[in-house]
Amino acid sequence: MFFISKFLPYGKQTIDDEDIEEVVKTLKSPLITQGPKIEEFEKDIAKYCGAKFAVAFNSGTSALHGAYFALGIGKGDEVITSPNTFVATSNAALYLGADVNFGDVEIETGNLDASKIKVSDKTKLISPVHYSGQPVDLKEFSEIAEDNDVKLFEDGAHALGAKYDGKKIGSLTYSEMAMFSFHPVKHITTGEGGIIVTNDEEYFERLQLFRSHGITKNNLVNEPHGDWYYEMQELGFNYRITDIQCALGVSQLKKLDSFIKSRRKVAKIYDEIFEDNPYFDVTIEKEDRESAYHLYPILLKDKFVNNKKEIFTKLRQEGIGVQVHYIPVYKQPYYQKLGFNNSLCPICEEFYKKEISIPMYPTLTDEDIEFVKEKLFKVISEFD
Ligand SMILES: *Cc1c(COP(=O)(O)O)cnc(C)c1O
Repeated sequence: MFFISKFLPYGKQTIDDEDIEEVVKTLKSPLITQGPKIEEFEKDIAKYCGAKFAVAFNSGTSALHGAYFALGIGKGDEVITSPNTFVATSNAALYLGADVNFGDVEIETGNLDASKIKVSDKTKLISPVHYSGQPVDLKEFSEIAEDNDVKLFEDGAHALGAKYDGKKIGSLTYSEMAMFSFHPVKHITTGEGGIIVTNDEEYFERLQLFRSHGITKNNLVNEPHGDWYYEMQELGFNYRITDIQCALGVSQLKKLDSFIKSRRKVAKIYDEIFEDNPYFDVTIEKEDRESAYHLYPILLKDKFVNNKKEIFTKLRQEGIGVQVHYIPVYKQPYYQKLGFNNSLCPICEEFYKKEISIPMYPTLTDEDIEFVKEKLFKVISEFD
């Protein structure tokens, strides 16, 4: 047998017996794919966010694809987004034949900087990411969107339960739609899964169409041939989530507020114990925001930046499951082939050089937090 020493990942799910029981109940029920749990989950999420409608997908990525489709993004259009994100945010534009226009970020939050984006004649959508769980400046983005007659979308994969100006992300005061992901490292999980919330009934219908092959039995173009009749009206996909997954989602959602509370508590302790330390800075939470803390990013001080590679490896060896969020998307070989400058956004480049994500999840104990601090200080100080 190997001796398994302590290892704290940067993020992980929290699943209890109650969650498991709910999944088992659905497994024993007649419908395990398109049964009642999907709609129940959608209604619960919509209610939680304060939105009218929600459409669940089998991943956050397919949800993004569906949302951009419903928003009418296509060939010749351009989507503005952050390079400091998971590739899915911009890939969804490429899936539809649209172009991507990356804006630079703010060093103190990692969020897309509204003052740095460049709207062009082709721009149809601005799709910022609430990086690490802290909302972007939605007011500024919505003003830019309105002035230029383009739409605003929110990649809220990190921000379920976060607040902007006292209102939950997904309440859609400023944007057309928001996406949430239910990958296990996110706030609540369905294994894989994602959802779009919107207040617009037409978007709601287009999202449903896109999720299921573009097939519908409503608003038919032709006379029905009989009761079996359905029509494929758009080129959709099979992006459906299952009832099994949504049974887990419904159960998980009941605990979301307590998860967020725990994440915020961990963040507060980190903020305190890392204050004025000589090794790294932490991102700041702006006054009118309440981060959902999907991540807790630290930013190495300049003199340690050249040792990030060694620091990262040593931290993992010491039991801290660090990760880096993110490699600027335009640096990916596929985006390089599309012709993006390899150091397109200077602040994002700096953020990438400095950033390390340390463990952040609801069940971290005081002892774990102390362990993280001790190892961080020990490993980084070796390079002083
Ligand atoms: C996780 C994530 C996604 C994609 O979600 P999946 O459910 O993994 O497909 C998109 N954008 C961001 C910012 C994410 O973190």
